[in-house]
Amino acid sequence: MSKLLIPFQNKYTLCLSTQVGCAMKCSFCFTGTQGLKRHLATEEIIGQYILAVRWLQEFRPNGHQLKNLVYMGQGEPLHNFDALKAANEIFLDQHGTSIGVQKITISTAGYLPGLIRWNEEMSGVNLALSLHSPFEEKRNKLIPINQRYPLADVLKCIDEIPLKRKQYIIYEYLLIKNFNESIEDAHATGELLREKMAIVNLIPFNPFPGSEFERPEQSQIEIFKSILESYKLPVLIRGTKGDDILAACGQLNTKL
Ligand code: SF4
Repeated sequence: MSKLLIPFQNKYTLCLSTQVGCAMKCSFCFTGTQGLKRHLATEEIIGQYILAVRWLQEFRPNGHQLKNLVYMGQGEPLHNFDALKAANEIFLDQHGTSIGVQKITISTAGYLPGLIRWNEEMSGVNLALSLHSPFEEKRNKLIPINQRYPLADVLKCIDEIPLKRKQYIIYEYLLIKNFNESIEDAHATGELLREKMAIVNLIPFNPFPGSEFERPEQSQIEIFKSILESYKLPVLIRGTKGDDILAACGQLNTKL
């Protein structure tokens, strides 16, 4: 459990899974290597929360709180939409866990059938898109479902999501050495996002056993960030807490 609770001072973010394995087969992702075993039921998603709360009560009893939920564990959340939706309704309901809508973030690889349902059925929670490249060809290599649901269609759908004041779409960008970390990649990403309510999360790739990709140099990460900032985009470089235990994003594998 401690692997899935990400601490910041005495506040914690819980990383939730929605499936065992994943059907999306992203080429950078450890989870994707095992394929989809099954969807999780709503109670199994809620169960992760209950276990986390109990773990905190037992092992961090002095004022440590679970503050945020992020669906960034195993699985493509929007591929298990009905269970995800029901779990969120329980998380949000005052008779459930009464978590604020702004404290929940769902991350997707760009599963368009789920995004099409989002506006009607997903009531104001935050959305994060795994962007990883502004170019369709490169994205095809990283996220195979991009061939079926191209980035242009995904972005068009996301652009139609109504946002509250100060609400942003999070665009996650996995930085991979000699693949998508160049100055041209950075400028094309800046151009793509410059008019949007966007926050960019840069995630330096965490190598896993057998992966074909490498982590970029720190200097290149900083250059990429400063180019995006020149387009007036807020940019964060995600820390790699958990990479030593293979629990950073895209590294969960039930074979471990
Ligand atoms: S990155 Fe996410 S969507 Fe892609 S294979 Fe891994 S778990 Fe699935």
